[in-house]
Amino acid sequence: MAVGTASVAARLREVVSPDRVIDDPATLLPYSYDASFWSLRQKRTPSVVVVPESTADVVAAVRVANETGTPLVPRGAGTGQTGGAIAPEGGIVISFARMRKILEIDRRNLQAIVEPGLVYFDFQNALAGHGLFFPPDPGSGRACTLGGMAANNASGPHAVRWGTTSAYVLGADVVLADGSVITTGGVHSKALKSSSGIDLTKLFVGSEGTLGIFTRLRLRVQPRPPARAVILAGYKALEDTVASLDDLFEAGILPSTAELLDRSAVDALQLWRPELELPAGEAVLFIEVEGTPEQVAANVRYTDGIVRKRATVTRFAEDEKDIARLWAARSGLAAATALAHPGKHRIFAGEDLAVPLSEIPQTVRRAREMGAALGIAVVFYGHFGDGNVHSAILVDPDDPDEVRRADELADRLHKLAIEVGGTVTGEHGTGAVRARYMRAEHGDALDVMKRIKNVMDPKGLLNPGKIYEG
Ligand SMILES: Cc1cc2nc3c(=O)[nH]c(=O)nc-3n(C[C@H](O)[C@H](O)[C@H](O)COP(=O)(O)OP(=O)(O)OC[C@H]3O[C@@H](n4cnc5c(N)ncnc54)[C@H](O)[C@@H]3O)c2cc1C
Repeated sequence: MAVGTASVAARLREVVSPDRVIDDPATLLPYSYDASFWSLRQKRTPSVVVVPESTADVVAAVRVANETGTPLVPRGAGTGQTGGAIAPEGGIVISFARMRKILEIDRRNLQAIVEPGLVYFDFQNALAGHGLFFPPDPGSGRACTLGGMAANNASGPHAVRWGTTSAYVLGADVVLADGSVITTGGVHSKALKSSSGIDLTKLFVGSEGTLGIFTRLRLRVQPRPPARAVILAGYKALEDTVASLDDLFEAGILPSTAELLDRSAVDALQLWRPELELPAGEAVLFIEVEGTPEQVAANVRYTDGIVRKRATVTRFAEDEKDIARLWAARSGLAAATALAHPGKHRIFAGEDLAVPLSEIPQTVRRAREMGAALGIAVVFYGHFGDGNVHSAILVDPDDPDEVRRADELADRLHKLAIEVGGTVTGEHGTGAVRARYMRAEHGDALDVMKRIKNVMDPKGLLNPGKIYEG
C-alpha cells in the first residue's frame, strides 16, 4: 500500500544521511525534466529525490520503496531523450550525482571500475593519461554519465568500428528490486571475455533501470590509437554515399566513423561554424581512419582514392587541432539546427531511427517528404556507418497546431523505421515515449521481455511506465 510523500521522505531520512534526501518543491523541479520533448510539455515531478553515496545507500532506498510501495527511478545526468529518468507516477528518483568515482584504471587488463554517476568526459580524460580510451562516444559526453550510457546502451559516431556501450560493460554491481545486490560478469572476475553462465550483464545493459540499478561498472577500455585523420567528402546525391561506403566494404575497409550530414545539416552547421567550409552537395560524410601516424597517412590517401569514385569533392583533416574542431562542431549540431530555423526550437522526438544502410537514402527522402507534407522543418544527420539517422524536428512550442503536426511526424518516422526493416531507436532508448512501438517492432518477443520484468520486479517498482507498456 503506497504511503504519503512526507512519510517516504521521513523514512529515507532515517536510513540515509538526511541532507541527501530532497523533498522541497523548488529543488525537485529540475528532476521533472530530461531532454525529451515529452517531459518538457508536461511536468512530472518526483515525490522525493535521494542522492546516495554508496551501494548501501541505494539498497536502503530500495528497501524503503519496498516497504512503502513507492516507484523508484534511477537518474544519471538527465540528458536522455525519452523520459527514461522521469518519474511519471511520482515516487523516488535516485540521483547518482554523488557516485562518480573512478575506482580503478587497470591498463594491463584493459579495464576500469567506475561508479555509475561518473561523467563520460571525465572518464575519457582520466583514461587519456594512461594511453587508453572508452570507445562509445555520445554527443552528450560532456554531461551524460556512464550509468545512463549503460542503461540506454548509448553510442556515437565511432560505433561503426568500435561498437556500442554494451560491448564494453564487462560486469556490474546491480541492486535488484528487492534490495539484494549481485555482481554480474563474475564476482571476482577480471577476465575480458567469458562463456560462463547466462550473460546477465547484457540483460541489464539497455534495460533502462527497469530490471536493476547499477552501482558499479566494470568497463572494458582500449588502447587509444595514436593518430587519426578525417576525410570530408561531398556527394551530389544521398544514394552516392551508400555506394561509396559499399566501395569501402568491398575493398575490405571499415572506417572508424562514417558520419552523415544531409544538406539541411550542412546548412545549419555552416551558420554556426562557417570556418569549416564544408563541401557542397546533397550530403557530406566525415570518414575517419585511425592507427599509427604512418598508417594513417597511408590509409587516408588509400581510402580517399576509393571515396573519390563517388564523391564530387574530398578534403582531409590530418592535424589533430583541425580534427578536434570538426568533431566539436559535429557534437554541437543538435543545437545548431535551431540557427537554421529562427524562432523554432529543436525538439527530441522521433530523433533516433536506425535502418539498414541500404535504406538510408529512401528513409531520409521519405522523412523529408513527411516533414514537408506536415509543414514541419526537419534537419537530418546521423551515424551513417551503422544506419543511425537523426532527425532534428524544429517547432514553435507555443503553437499547438504545429506541435500536433510535429507529434504526427514523430509517429510517422517511428513507423517508417519499422517498415524499412529498422528500429525506432538506434541509441537513445525506449523510455516512456517509444514504449508504444515495442509491439510492432518486437512482436511476441515483447511478451518475453514483460515476463523477465515480472520475475525481476514483481511489484513493478523499478522505473514504471517505460519500455513494456505497449
Ligand atoms: C544534445 C544531446 C546529444 C546526445 N547524443 C547522443 C549520442 O550521440 N548517442 C547516444 O547514445 N545518446 C545521445 N544522447 C542521449 C543521452 O545523452 C544518452 O542516452 C545518455 O546515455 C544518457 O545518460 P544520462 O546520464 O543523462 O542518463 P539519464 O537521462 O539520467 O537516464 C537515462 C536512463 O538510464 C537510467 N539510469 C541512469 N542511471 C542508472 C543507473 N545507475 N542504473 C540503472 N539505470 C540508470 C535512467 O533511469 C534512464 O532510464 C544525447 C542527448 C543530448 C541531450
